[in-house]
Amino acid sequence: MKKIKTDVLIIGAGPVGLFAVFELGQLGIKSCIVDCLDEIGGQCSALYPEKPIYDIPAYPVIRGDELVENLRKQIEPFKPEIFLNQRVDRISKNKDFFEILTSENINLSAKCIIIAAGNGAFGPNKPPLGGLDEYENKTLFYNVRDKSIFEKKSIAIAGGGDSAADWAIELSKKAKKVFFIHRRTNLRAAPNSVEKLYQLEKKKKIEMVIPYQLDSILGSKGKIDKIRLRKTDGNEKLIDVDYFLPFFGLSANLGPIKNWELEIEKNVLKVDKSTCETSKKGIFAIGDICSYPGKLKLILTGFAEAAVAAQNCYKNVFPEKVLHFEYSTTKGITKLT
Ligand code: FAD
Repeated sequence: MKKIKTDVLIIGAGPVGLFAVFELGQLGIKSCIVDCLDEIGGQCSALYPEKPIYDIPAYPVIRGDELVENLRKQIEPFKPEIFLNQRVDRISKNKDFFEILTSENINLSAKCIIIAAGNGAFGPNKPPLGGLDEYENKTLFYNVRDKSIFEKKSIAIAGGGDSAADWAIELSKKAKKVFFIHRRTNLRAAPNSVEKLYQLEKKKKIEMVIPYQLDSILGSKGKIDKIRLRKTDGNEKLIDVDYFLPFFGLSANLGPIKNWELEIEKNVLKVDKSTCETSKKGIFAIGDICSYPGKLKLILTGFAEAAVAAQNCYKNVFPEKVLHFEYSTTKGITKLT
């Protein structure tokens, strides 16, 4: 088990969690971030990277992905360790430190925790089939981390959106065969991607298996042999595949946060507005996950909460020191030791 020690652990690498690294860093506080997605940016990256945002102060317009990139640059001087593809599952208190365990078995200890978990941990929407866990991360994947494993293999890709279409086009370059499965004849993916899929079908690189529904996976010991598909009229089709990639989008779930004995109301954590502290001392909540009278679920509100929480973490991290409020224009960018 990997062990990491830091001053503050931030749960969630959305825009608000990222900005918290900056606010903490400016006070000389080290932080780490954990997020279950495979990239930083939370909702901005996962749900609307190409959408323009109009209410970020001093940016008349900025795209979701540009905002995330700017935040990444802004926190670079503080060199935060960012642990992606893993969920914070457990937190507990051990004398002066919180102990945090992630789903990838990383054990972090921190003097404070800032929960910037948005609407909860993002995870893939799974197809409604039995026995998925037998194949998950062996021959069934909800995202692609290593394209090379698909070389000269038969792959079934299910879904009708951009991820399904983009990966079918990309993987068809090296795969033996790609089956593109969707239950409707209309695809939600960008029209030029859909056109490309049908061009690749003519070249026998992709087989469009449409309109078919997933019925079951046949295989054993983590190895998929075939996928059974069914049409609405009951017609059945069996396809031979090595890998299965279902792309049915993401959804957020509070999940483990519900077990941390924090005061929760309507799926958000109640905090004291003046400190952003939750019902447990040393655990703060900011951004969409927190609630207080008059709370607005906006990025700019979350940024201000990050500053408030950072100032209040200071007392826990440096109990012997007194914090003197300073502007960034006066002290510049703080150097962490
Ligand atoms: P999020 O962005 O939700 O990030 C939270 C992160 O925490 C996620 O990545 C999640 O995977 C992770 N996480 C949660 N639990 C765990 C766990 N246990 N372990 C590990 N990781 C975990 N706001 C505006 O201000 N202006 C706009 O114009 C605007 N437009 C929007 C348009 C759309 C389509 C949507 C969906 C939202 C929009 N918003 C807008 C809202 C804005 O995106 C949110 O307010 C903002 O993303 C909240 O940031 P956050 O960092 O609090 O949470």
